[in-house]
Amino acid sequence: MKKEVTLYIVIPCYNEEEVLNETTRQLKEKIEKLIKNKDISDKSRVMYVNDGSKDRTWEIIEKINQKEKYFTGISLSRNRGHQNALLAGLMTAKNYADIVISMDADLQDDINAIDEMIKKYKEGNEIVYGVRSSRTKDTFFKRTTAEGFYKFMKLMGVEIVFNHADYRLTSKLVLDHLEEYGEVNLFLRGMFPLIGYKSDKVLYERKERFAGESKYPLKKMLSFAWDGITSFSIKPITFVFNLGIAIFIISALMLLYSLIVKLLGNTVEGWTFIVCSIWLVAGIEMFSLGIIGEYIGKIYNETKARPRYIISRNLNEEKSKN
Ligand code: UDP
Ligand code: MG
Repeated sequence: MKKEVTLYIVIPCYNEEEVLNETTRQLKEKIEKLIKNKDISDKSRVMYVNDGSKDRTWEIIEKINQKEKYFTGISLSRNRGHQNALLAGLMTAKNYADIVISMDADLQDDINAIDEMIKKYKEGNEIVYGVRSSRTKDTFFKRTTAEGFYKFMKLMGVEIVFNHADYRLTSKLVLDHLEEYGEVNLFLRGMFPLIGYKSDKVLYERKERFAGESKYPLKKMLSFAWDGITSFSIKPITFVFNLGIAIFIISALMLLYSLIVKLLGNTVEGWTFIVCSIWLVAGIEMFSLGIIGEYIGKIYNETKARPRYIISRNLNEEKSKN
């Protein structure tokens, strides 16, 4: 007999009223099939996390929760961004589940990969990463920026799984360890490889968002990449240090050069040279200060250790009380 496990599928939602009903229809089919096949237990659920949406998202989640046995939801007290919403969902779901799968509300990640993820978990993996095999359905712009993002992260020394976003299965064991990471600047896909344990990958085709718009415009994507680098790598500081050494050597050579020129009596030094040096050095200093400032900003946020999310409603608890 197969061992029954309880699965929670955690889905952060920010202004997703257009997609929720269709997502629910498809996931209902999936979860009912998995339960029927005894791949997962009857206690398994889909848990929507309302990330302070400004549209009817929470109303829809409450309605779905009343109507559908396998659907539940929590609501954050305000919008905290995808990563915090996801963490809130994972930390809540692990109280009820043996394994948790996280995915987006727009079903861009193929839900048929779930079967394989569960299979790999049963083979002894604690983490199963969903990896996009192709991005032909993404726009050229999204594809190049996204793949550039993974390459740049690697260059910067951040250990992440290539073309893996936040579609993954994690066991309760791993999530218990994730809880011990108290950081405020969240970059979840960089944290799971740090936790360790046996892991595997499942390949899937990335689809188009079937309704609504991306909640990750370029500005958010860039700030996310920047957060990822500065939260996980001190390479930028090493870079500043090396830059400092190089400039020191160049200035020493310059000093020697100007001394020789002076000794030779040829003192007509170019005004351009002086002005250029001032600007160059000032520029480099500002740049370096900026990078260092970024880390100080991070330290500032971490030392405050503010709560990363506040859950205002938990339908799963409310339901079990009634
Ligand atoms: N999301 C969220 N809070 C935010 C922004 C996005 O919970 O502040 C959710 C969103 O509802 C979706 C997921 O994060 O379920 C990924 O967003 P999206 O699909 O817009 O990103 P993309 O696929 O374009 O990278
Ligand atoms: Mg999407």
